[in-house]
Amino acid sequence: MGPRPWNDKKRFIWVLSLLLITAFLATSGISYKVARDSLIQQVEENTLPLTSDNIYSEIQQDLLTPIFISSLMAQDTFVREWTLNHEQDPDKLIRYLREIQERYGTVTSFFVSEQSRQYYHSSGILKQIKDQDPSDSWYFRVRSLPEKEHYEINIDSDTADRSKTTVFVNYKVFDFEGNFIGITGVGLAVEKVRALIELYQKRYNRVVYFADREGIITLSGSGYYGGDSLQHTPGVDKLATRLLTTPSGAFTYEREGKTVYLNSRLVPEFKWYLLVEQEEDQAERNLLGTFWINMALSLTVVIGVLIIANLTLGRYQRRLEHMASIDKLTGAANRQVFEEVFEKQLLQAKAQSTPVSVLMLDIDHFKQINDSHGHSMGDLVLKTVANMLERDLPPGELLCRWGGEEFLLMTPVDMINAHQRAEQLRARIADHRMQVNGHDIHVTVSIGVAQFQYHESADQLIKRADTALYQAKEGGRNRVALSHP
Ligand code: GH3
Ligand code: MG
Ligand code: MG
Repeated sequence: MGPRPWNDKKRFIWVLSLLLITAFLATSGISYKVARDSLIQQVEENTLPLTSDNIYSEIQQDLLTPIFISSLMAQDTFVREWTLNHEQDPDKLIRYLREIQERYGTVTSFFVSEQSRQYYHSSGILKQIKDQDPSDSWYFRVRSLPEKEHYEINIDSDTADRSKTTVFVNYKVFDFEGNFIGITGVGLAVEKVRALIELYQKRYNRVVYFADREGIITLSGSGYYGGDSLQHTPGVDKLATRLLTTPSGAFTYEREGKTVYLNSRLVPEFKWYLLVEQEEDQAERNLLGTFWINMALSLTVVIGVLIIANLTLGRYQRRLEHMASIDKLTGAANRQVFEEVFEKQLLQAKAQSTPVSVLMLDIDHFKQINDSHGHSMGDLVLKTVANMLERDLPPGELLCRWGGEEFLLMTPVDMINAHQRAEQLRARIADHRMQVNGHDIHVTVSIGVAQFQYHESADQLIKRADTALYQAKEGGRNRVALSHP
């Protein structure tokens, strides 16, 4: 009774929900994390580096050829002797350059002499290199490279055909004493290199691009979505410094809510970084899907368990409350319930100036019944008397088992009517012939009646009814006595 059990139940349901949700969240979350981590590890440590290795070796095969050709040209005895011979008969060199171009399928082949600054090309002498001309700056840059570096790779518009962008290999040429005498090399159409990138991208289903050591994107294919430098690509910008200071590395960054795996390695021959990217796997998205399905299922289970718990608890609680409020033997209300209702009734009667009376009933010589017929027979008699008292109980009346074989009846009437009611009950029991286990048992009750006086307490009222009952007993039993305040 009261608000406490209800609160307990609420708290229990809350704790249960919290426990279940935490447990489900923890298990789903942990299993998702474990699966995802191992997947990421797989991509980071195996799939991507392997692809990167493959592309790297393919690039070496495909792009190292022009470097190799250029180095052959730079070391060619004919080229060097011809130059040292004051560049006589330019047609000889031009034919040589044309042969190189045709044999290796390059878009251009060239030689620039340090002595004359002439730019020889497969189609003739194109121009004279001048140090004031910005488009000739490449020559002076390569010339002043450190001694160990024999060549550079450079993307530029072609001197022979300005509309074309070409990947140049610029190789330093030395005479037989090691003096610098010019620069030679070949050029490859950027489109050709792009086609290579596209091929790798398609073959490995990755995004492939190049950046130079400053982070400027030098070459990229159709799948590239970043900016013109690593520093201007969202997500990658934070990795740029780290990336450009290590020869190779594995990175991850976030793009549009998806994880991107990035593998970098420096290709020393170009002094460029080869960058290979892979987006978050389909498998990962499937994992996330599974996670949400798990969560939805868990939520359903939680709700189901809560509903069942709530119903079961409710039923159990009602049964407990009923058990606690009813006297088992007689089915009458017990004393605690009665007192609670009784107090309320008295307050209400006082507020509304309506009458309330109480009847205190006690079975006469009950000890004798116990003594002569046994205790269980006594119980039966007690039950029968209670049933007779409970029969036709009008609304507003409440019967309570007050003690052993004492009953208290609350009735919302005044003394005169309460007296009548008491007489009626006394006569009903006295007139009843009880047949218990083949024995005729005659039972009577004595009753004390008192009407509630608004100034008195519940205890005082009951005490007066009890005193009247004592008087009824004194007066010879099987009778009703009234308490007159
Ligand atoms: P009186 O007319 O003066 O009331 O005489 P009495 O014998 O009824 O005397 P009293 O009220 O003192 O005794 C009541 C007896 O009822 C005592 C107790 O053993 C018995 N009793 C109380 N509760 C139960 C019960 O639940 N079952 C049975 N069988 N007996 C009970
Ligand atoms: Mg008695
Ligand atoms: Mg008694």
